[in-house]
Amino acid sequence: MLPETIAIKARNSISNYCVDECKAFCCRKGYLELSSKEMRLAIGSMQGELEHAGFLTEVKNNEFILNMSAPNGCPSLRNDKCLIHLNIGRSSACKKFPIFISNNIVRFSARCPAVGANKFYSYISKFKKLGFIIE
Ligand code: SF4
Ligand code: SF4
Repeated sequence: MLPETIAIKARNSISNYCVDECKAFCCRKGYLELSSKEMRLAIGSMQGELEHAGFLTEVKNNEFILNMSAPNGCPSLRNDKCLIHLNIGRSSACKKFPIFISNNIVRFSARCPAVGANKFYSYISKFKKLGFIIE
């Protein structure tokens, strides 16, 4: 199996945990880098309001940082689910979280409670069998 296929299966395997137990922690805390296109998709008409309140900042031309500690988290979050989950224009960080593959290293984000709860145990074994280093 290809490494990205393993990662997709691993991410999908925790979808119930994300909603029912974690309640979308990663969409409520921390910072998200967004291109202007990704920002428009995730934030839409709330851009002005979030900028005014200091939760959205343009850091470079066409690059934004969203502080997801805004009162309701990311504006695309509803009932602990991502409204744009199936949209291919969603930010790459959102698509990959909490598993990031780079060269021969697979990094599992320590921010994700599913990682701490060892929910990816069987997938870690698959990566290791392919020779990946786990971080
Ligand atoms: S922090 Fe981890 S467990 Fe929680 S919603 Fe995000 S990916 Fe799912
Ligand atoms: S776009 Fe979706 S996955 Fe990304 S932070 Fe917002 S609600 Fe979460």
